[in-house]
Amino acid sequence: MAKIFCIANQKGGVGKTTTAVNLAAGLAGHQQRVLLVDLDPQGNATMGSGIEKTDLTTSVYQVLIGLATVKECAKTCESSGFDVLPANRDLAGAEIELVDLELREQRLKNALAAVADDYDFILIDCPPALSLLTLNGLCAANGVIVPMQCEYFALEGLSDLVNTIKQVHANLNPDLMIIGLLRVMFDARMTLQQQVSEQLLEHFGDKVFKTIIPRNVRLAEAPSYGLPGVAFDKSSRGAKAYLEFGAEMIERINQLQTLGRY
Ligand code: ATP
Ligand code: MG
Repeated sequence: MAKIFCIANQKGGVGKTTTAVNLAAGLAGHQQRVLLVDLDPQGNATMGSGIEKTDLTTSVYQVLIGLATVKECAKTCESSGFDVLPANRDLAGAEIELVDLELREQRLKNALAAVADDYDFILIDCPPALSLLTLNGLCAANGVIVPMQCEYFALEGLSDLVNTIKQVHANLNPDLMIIGLLRVMFDARMTLQQQVSEQLLEHFGDKVFKTIIPRNVRLAEAPSYGLPGVAFDKSSRGAKAYLEFGAEMIERINQLQTLGRY
């Protein structure tokens, strides 16, 4: 049965989508069956997987509202061999429409249950808000991956997310836990980034992934070609880091399984 992970951080532009798309490609490169769920009306994960968001007739929006199944809407990222449940601007309306629906925060979870046996991993790219959409992601997931930049306010922003995760854990989804914090867009030449990185390790210990994703322009260029960075330039430092992160994720999940956490 698939392990389901949210890539979440309410802060905008911290590398959630880049992480979601490249981890999906990285895991697929390690022979894992992967579904990437785009839960952001911006549709960046959709476009970054080479799927034109304006051409969609159905998307995650119809799935959340109950008008279509995941199987009916899923597309394939041809370059990297994973499936995508795509999103576009329609999803912005879901936030309001969901309010009146039954079990409004469990809609994604219930929809994904039908395909749980078809995949090893389901990754959910969340929007930059602690909204009802993100709540659907957190309710569906076994764990959260938090990408973050090692900047001055990073730790402060983290406490809001940690509190939300605690609340969801207590009230809606007892399976939920933070799998790990991923340091992204890292520039080792900057003393401040190294200091914040050390603070993170002090506070969160082995919850911080060993892999560090460097700032690498090839990762930023890749989406405009409709390709994950991992497929766009395999030999780039960014691609190598995400492949390494894929391997670390598989190892971490195996460890958690051994400990009986899954
Ligand atoms: P949003 O909150 O809007 O959804 P996000 O958290 O998903 O944003 P991304 O879209 O992944 O963030 O990244 C923000 C910008 O930074 C993008 O232009 C992306 O290409 C770039 N970027 C992400 N990771 C890296 C990296 N490691 N090196 C260089 N550029 C990066
Ligand atoms: Mg994004």
